[in-house]
Amino acid sequence: MTQWECAIEGHGETFDRVEDLIVHQATAHDRAECKVCGTVLPDGYFAIRHAFEEHSRAEYVRAYDATAAEVRQRESVKESIEESADIREVIDRLEGGTGGL
Ligand SMILES: [Zn+2]
Ligand SMILES: [Zn+2]
Repeated sequence: MTQWECAIEGHGETFDRVEDLIVHQATAHDRAECKVCGTVLPDGYFAIRHAFEEHSRAEYVRAYDATAAEVRQRESVKESIEESADIREVIDRLEGGTGGL
């Protein structure tokens, strides 16, 4: 079974379900500010999704000083999460929780 590891600031905690990982990242870690537009988002998947869906790859590379390899790596994380996760469940859990979105 795939283990999902929280990579935020080298945290390293692992989760059996990707939904648990995303909820963890959105609630246990500080929110992240998008370096392109300044929007504050839950860190982890939601921050990555925002960066790639709202901004061009070139904007991302400039703002984050990222290499092409880093961009590819983050895109592949986003894709593998989207293949595995029930994002609807995650959003329901976050909205139903005390933290909210
Ligand atoms: Zn974590
Ligand atoms: Zn942004």
